Amino acid sequence: MSPTHTSGTPPTSDVVVVGGGIIGLVTAWRAAQRGLATTVVDPEPGGGAAQVAAGMLAAVTELHHGEQTLLGLNLASARRYPDFAAELTELTGRDLGHRRCGTLAVALDADDRAHLRELHALHERSGLESQWLTGRECRRLEPLLAPGVRGGLRVDGDHAIDPRQLAAALVTACERSGVVLHRAWADRLTVVRDRATGVVTADGTELAAGQVVLAAGSLSGRLAGVPEDVLPPVRPVKGQVLRLTVPGNRAPFLNRTVRAVVRGSHVYLVPRESGELVIGATSEEMGWDTTVTAGGVYELLRDAHELVPGITELPLTETRAGLRPGSPDNAPLLGPTGLAGLLLATGHHRNGVLLTPVTGDVLAHALTTGELPEEARPFTPRRFTAGALLEQSA
Ligand SMILES: Cc1cc2nc3c(=O)[nH]c(=O)nc-3n(C[C@H](O)[C@H](O)[C@H](O)COP(=O)(O)OP(=O)(O)OC[C@H]3O[C@@H](n4cnc5c(N)ncnc54)[C@H](O)[C@@H]3O)c2cc1C
Repeated sequence: MSPTHTSGTPPTSDVVVVGGGIIGLVTAWRAAQRGLATTVVDPEPGGGAAQVAAGMLAAVTELHHGEQTLLGLNLASARRYPDFAAELTELTGRDLGHRRCGTLAVALDADDRAHLRELHALHERSGLESQWLTGRECRRLEPLLAPGVRGGLRVDGDHAIDPRQLAAALVTACERSGVVLHRAWADRLTVVRDRATGVVTADGTELAAGQVVLAAGSLSGRLAGVPEDVLPPVRPVKGQVLRLTVPGNRAPFLNRTVRAVVRGSHVYLVPRESGELVIGATSEEMGWDTTVTAGGVYELLRDAHELVPGITELPLTETRAGLRPGSPDNAPLLGPTGLAGLLLATGHHRNGVLLTPVTGDVLAHALTTGELPEEARPFTPRRFTAGALLEQSA
């Protein structure tokens, strides 16, 4: 099916997706594959946080205490990645830069070492594969690591992709699958008799739809017309990132992603086949500010330099800041809301690239059946409604 539009009547789709970041695009692509006439509304489809993100697929090294429920979804998505990337590449001809290179999380001092030991114990309790290495073993794997590295965790299952390639491939996949890309801002949701019926865009177009998916990243809580009680509690979490370029004659600089906590801040270095080396990322509660600051760049370079001193020789080719769509429990909000016809696909915070494959499948299932699949039930947006919050606090 494709959206119907006869002159004088507004175009009607089965599904309108507000937001064409990686999450909105994967939702639209998977919905179209299931035969739903789908429109994406975004002034710049394929933009958003993926233009900044490092692209770590780090279900294991990103595990935090208290986030075991999210771990299940992260692992489910990580398992889908090889087939997902192959399918997208076959359809679009784009290489996503999917590297199964693994990750090395290292410690620079006794405190970091204790912290990593705890993470290792948590991995073991959770049945996850990670291997403790001495400092010398770490340097054998990554010869450019600083001599001061005191030990580390080797996690071969945490991979990486290039999120810019992913976003571009998803735009092409949508186009090839018949998704209509309407390049405009959605101004407001239309609601008729307690049911979402579409959106009105900034260019004045009324886009009618059987179902609306709100996938507007960190702006998801700001769409006019969405009733207060179903508005997602999503906030922007700023991240600054640097891109350096490893000259052809220096490759391979690093063989895998290297990360650490330095003076309480997370820092990671993600190498790509192309020679790009991404260093990230700050985590700042600054509203919608995306300024790259001298302090942010200084701290990232200082911390990365402590891990891999040789980075200072490399050209610094890009500095950029983006906004993670943060949610109160750091987990995404997926599926139907309390307003009929309105679904959410947002709040993916620091794992949106990793969670792209599973989000597409979960939303396609919800759009065609009205239900969340078992693996996604804990991520219902209804967990944040007033009643559910009262129950949790009782
Ligand atoms: C510094 C940084 C590093 C990261 N590193 C990683 C990583 O290594 N691994 C990982 O898994 N994740 C990472 N992430 C997180 C990941 O990038 C995000 O979770 C993911 O990109 C969110 O995608 P999204 O489509 O939900 O939102 P966004 O990318 O924000 O896209 C939202 C889209 O909605 C559009 N939009 C908003 N409002 C409207 C409206 N009213 N009408 C029309 N369109 C609208 C915007 O134009 C935008 O294109 C990182 C993020 C940052 C910032």
